[in-house]
Amino acid sequence: MLDVVIIGGGPAGMTAGIYAARAGFKTMILETGAPGGQASTTETIENYPGFPGGISGPELMMKFYEQTINFGVEMEFAHVESLELTGPVKKVKAGDNIYETRSVIIASGARPRVLGVQGEAKFRGKGVSYCATCDGFFFKDKEVAVIGGGDTAVEEALYLTKICSKVYLIHRRDKLRATQILQDRAMKNEKIEFIWDTVVDEITGDDKLNGLSLHNVKTQKKFKLNIDGVFIFVGYIPNSDYLPREVEIDERGYVITDVELRTNVAGVYAIGDVRQKNLRQVATAVGDGALAITTLERDFAK
Ligand code: NAP
Repeated sequence: MLDVVIIGGGPAGMTAGIYAARAGFKTMILETGAPGGQASTTETIENYPGFPGGISGPELMMKFYEQTINFGVEMEFAHVESLELTGPVKKVKAGDNIYETRSVIIASGARPRVLGVQGEAKFRGKGVSYCATCDGFFFKDKEVAVIGGGDTAVEEALYLTKICSKVYLIHRRDKLRATQILQDRAMKNEKIEFIWDTVVDEITGDDKLNGLSLHNVKTQKKFKLNIDGVFIFVGYIPNSDYLPREVEIDERGYVITDVELRTNVAGVYAIGDVRQKNLRQVATAVGDGALAITTLERDFAK
């Protein structure tokens, strides 16, 4: 019988693990992939305090992992298939095991949203990518496009300029959503060419991706762009599909919590990118992880 099962080993889940272990709780983290989640696919994290020169995502996440393990938290690499959350003893089925626990912390994060256009699935991994740090190198000295206008799209476009000969940044409006500091950097970067008010109709190619069919949403003009790769950063979808119906989620699938991170189900908490909130960053994920355990401690004491 465990005290806490944490679903997801990203920055939120690992922080919760550290706090839970320090509070003396028998804790298990269940993680589908590698520790660190999306943060470990980020090239540089420069707004997480304590690292004045910035730090690479994988390096920061390995430090989180080391600290989590040092506190005696167990991490199993298994996919959660089903959950029974009603009642004081919760059951979490992952791989061949069923874990019994007094509480569950949902920290399963989010995944990149797909565009849903023709050719996207066909060329996934063969020119279509959702991670510049992972795949950028395949496009050394080549021309690529980035789709999206948020922080991720602009940050990743800037990263790609270090590898590729040219980066087209294609956005569906004429104004970026990204924060001003990133916008300024992108505008100054000579390798980035902006294509405004434009959406992708199709990702084209034969064996290999060779271009995009686009149209301008203001003029309706259709045109083609020859490129070797496309990086899609059009937001995220919360990983909440596996949750049973009794856990309340919003219309976009984000788990709803109170200010102390309780869900509507007793003994079940949600933290990090999977929950409904305004800012999804490593710094806020860490705050969530710490807060959830202090809430849980108070709830256990009742
Ligand atoms: P986001 O802020 O939701 O931006 C998504 C972008 O994709 C928007 O520009 C949106 O256009 C566009 N888009 C959405 N659906 C589209 C579609 N079907 N076709 C074409 N374009 C589409 O997502 P994000 O940039 O991944 O950021 C997610 C969160 O992480 C944000 O809170 C962000 O601040 C944070 N983040 C922070 C940093 C940092 O602080 N350094 C770095 C990365 C991410 P519209 O603008 O027209 O809606």
